[in-house]
Amino acid sequence: APSLHLNVRVSPLGDRQVLVLADDRTPLLRVDETRRDFVANVGHELKTPIGAVRLLAEAVESAADDPEAVRHFAARMQRESARLGELVTQIIDLSRLQADDPMLRAEFVQVGDILDDALARSRELATKRAVNLVRTGDEEFTVLGDRTQLTDALANLVTNAIVYSDEKARVAITTSLVDEDGDNFVEVSVADNGIGISDENQQRIFERFYRVDYGRSRDNGGTGLGLSIVKHIAAVHGGTVNVWSKLGQGSTFTIRLPLQPSTLESERLS
Ligand code: ADP
Repeated sequence: APSLHLNVRVSPLGDRQVLVLADDRTPLLRVDETRRDFVANVGHELKTPIGAVRLLAEAVESAADDPEAVRHFAARMQRESARLGELVTQIIDLSRLQADDPMLRAEFVQVGDILDDALARSRELATKRAVNLVRTGDEEFTVLGDRTQLTDALANLVTNAIVYSDEKARVAITTSLVDEDGDNFVEVSVADNGIGISDENQQRIFERFYRVDYGRSRDNGGTGLGLSIVKHIAAVHGGTVNVWSKLGQGSTFTIRLPLQPSTLESERLS
């Protein structure tokens, strides 16, 4: 149950009056608590691949005169260490994004260029699973942002769309312009017709380390940090990320970023 933490000071004010000062420290303690939870979770998540590497090293040792087995265990060791590396990279990314000064390298960049990079990263997986990636919409809009991070965010959504769909599925990446009360935004939506996410889980998937199906995530090298990183990348760019989904039908993740005037236009303005 939520509790309230107050710092209370009482000082007498003359004969019949006291001054009570109550300082609400609840928000501060909450931040501390989530930080503690995060550290505890990180420890837990790191233990799994570290434990696996240790067991595999023992297996290699005891299978020394069986080259076939040694190769098998060594390959698995490589996979587990890659996983460990990915986990550490994501933890560092996330803590940078949560810092007061996330150190963005901002530049004007076309959405189409970011999508080229993001899709190049997902292509191998898409080919392996025979998933068809379809790009539509006008991608010539320019946003001001950190190209690497925006690429990370979109690659993450596309990878998820592939992983959480059946083989030979179709993933549609659509770019459009949205006008909200006179402010213009670029929206990129990534739609799959995969397994979908229940309403209950839609509330939680942006939390760090949260996975609906741990096994499926793990088999695909997932860490449960991807969407949390996407959320923070969108936020540091003044944008948002949202999900629409129906269990068994599919999901659409939409990233919305503030629109910058096109490069041509800003050249004309300066
Ligand atoms: P993971 O590394 O496990 O993919 P994410 O943070 O990217 O972690 O996603 C969190 C969870 O949200 C996933 O484990 C999965 O259960 C669910 N999820 C994410 N994207 C999709 C999707 N396109 N379709 C269905 N479920 C999804």
